Amino acid sequence: MSDKKFYNPEVCPYCGSYSIAGISHAEYDADYAWREVECIVCEKSWKELFTLAGAELEDKSVLPTKDHSKTKLASATEARIRGILEQLKDFCEEEDDG
Ligand SMILES: [Zn+2]
Repeated sequence: MSDKKFYNPEVCPYCGSYSIAGISHAEYDADYAWREVECIVCEKSWKELFTLAGAELEDKSVLPTKDHSKTKLASATEARIRGILEQLKDFCEEEDDG
């Protein structure tokens, strides 16, 4: 479990010293990374955990644009309106019969 709430990456969480140093290179998994940090004063060590914040693509053509989402929304709205119109049509036809 991460203790991020209580953690300041600039000071040793045990003694408050600013003399801390990363003692291992970061290791990466699919969407998080971690590295070991050591305090030079009290010699305790701990793991710093990092989570993936996002990605920056050089070729942004694969990203959905606002226009695409608008089109999608518009066609979903259109489908709903068509459904309502169908129901109204059925309703009116029933009224005509009666
Ligand atoms: Zn310390």
